[in-house]
Amino acid sequence: MLDGGCHCGAIRYRVDEGAADNHALCHCADCRHCAGAPVVGWMQVPESALELTKGEPAVYTSSENGRRAFCAVCGTGLFYRNAVMLPGIVDIQSATFDDGQATVPAPGAHIQVADRLGWMAGTESLPEFARYPGMD
Ligand SMILES: [Zn+2]
Repeated sequence: MLDGGCHCGAIRYRVDEGAADNHALCHCADCRHCAGAPVVGWMQVPESALELTKGEPAVYTSSENGRRAFCAVCGTGLFYRNAVMLPGIVDIQSATFDDGQATVPAPGAHIQVADRLGWMAGTESLPEFARYPGMD
């Protein structure tokens, strides 16, 4: 099982690890603005594989059919549903898994790159610092 939740802990969820599939990094303008981030990781699972174990997320209607579930206390974005485009499927913001590196399958694609911020190109070659620069 993969466990995850929001920053404050009011919302907790659990996903059947075997259902974890189709992990992608989305660059669309809706995701960027809703998350306040240049890119958002999403993992698709069948609705039946997702179990809410604590709390009830608030839901924001972000487009005609898009519904974004988030924690009303801390604001963390958690789930995306679109009953018209993807019936029976829920997208989980993959950075909200507790153990984001060891057990979550790595993303397989960048999607919606037509909306990608221009300055995202080449970010893989930026200098890197283990912590904030000058604060080792
Ligand atoms: Zn929260």
